[in-house]
Amino acid sequence: AKDAGRNRLAIYTQALSHAAEQRQRLEQELRQALERQEFLLYYQPQVDNQGQIRVLEALLRWQSPHRGLVAPDVFIPVLEDTGLILEVTRWVLQEACQQILHWQQQGLPWRVSMNLSPRDFQQADLAGSVLDIVQQTPIAPSLLELEITESVLLDASAQVQDSLARFKAAGIPLLLDDFGTGYASLTYLQQFHFDGIKVDRQFVDGLPDSPQSVALVRGIVTMAQHLGLHVVAEGVETAQQALFLRQNGCPILQGYYFDRPRPGNYWSERGNATYPA
Ligand code: C2E
Ligand code: CA
Ligand code: CA
Ligand code: CA
Repeated sequence: AKDAGRNRLAIYTQALSHAAEQRQRLEQELRQALERQEFLLYYQPQVDNQGQIRVLEALLRWQSPHRGLVAPDVFIPVLEDTGLILEVTRWVLQEACQQILHWQQQGLPWRVSMNLSPRDFQQADLAGSVLDIVQQTPIAPSLLELEITESVLLDASAQVQDSLARFKAAGIPLLLDDFGTGYASLTYLQQFHFDGIKVDRQFVDGLPDSPQSVALVRGIVTMAQHLGLHVVAEGVETAQQALFLRQNGCPILQGYYFDRPRPGNYWSERGNATYPA
């Protein structure tokens, strides 16, 4: 019995060090990925009730020579833990600004929204460094939107509030991402200068059949309208969901029903053709 216990411990220790090793390898590969420029942006459209693209959300991908195309859920937590996310965010921002400029020169009047990590807000002068980059590109700051998750507001330090106020003052719209999954209240949103919210996919999933989802989405849309906040629904996968949302005061929709995230040049070539309304 003693031996069996020792064996289990040995196996457990082995598994732990294996996990630690894998994690370290991933971290090492991500450092190289930055140097070797293996990151790229995909974009997914937000479509209005005329079927026109209004905004494209920039979504990070990693083209790894060993792993293939890697989705952000796998590597963003590691970038956050190591602090590498700060550099990646800068890169995403530069890339997004160039893409806005490029589309503008093509006569495509699209905004680009990008995601900020809570970790980005721990940086001393987040707003300053973001605004520097935006001002280096000849685009209107209002063509960029920033998506922020509720966890950022949980630590509503003076530093966070200052950054949010400066984005707002510069004319950069702020959206609260994954709305409904965290703790933020709608009045909180006004206080922090948000322009809109993105209703999380988990509520859209249940439409139009789940009475809870129906009640929640209607409630969120009504309150948001009273507070003058825009509402975007994400994760729209079916025609029924799109119809329900449009009939219930949510005209801007994002999801596989319209299109998946795709590289920037795909959208350049597609141009401003509309989606069937
Ligand atoms: P998110 O910001 O909530 O982005 C929406 C996610 O839902 C994307 O996953 C998108 O591909 C996916 N999605 C869109 N429409 C549908 C749909 O109809 N059905 C389903 N099932 N999924 C849909 P993705 O691209 O894998 O990104 C995952 C998360 O990684 C993002 O969630 C965001 O939190 C984070 N992320 C992505 N890019 C960045 C970035 O540049 N910086 C930071 N900090 N985070 C990022
Ligand atoms: Ca987002
Ligand atoms: Ca989201
Ligand atoms: Ca999410």
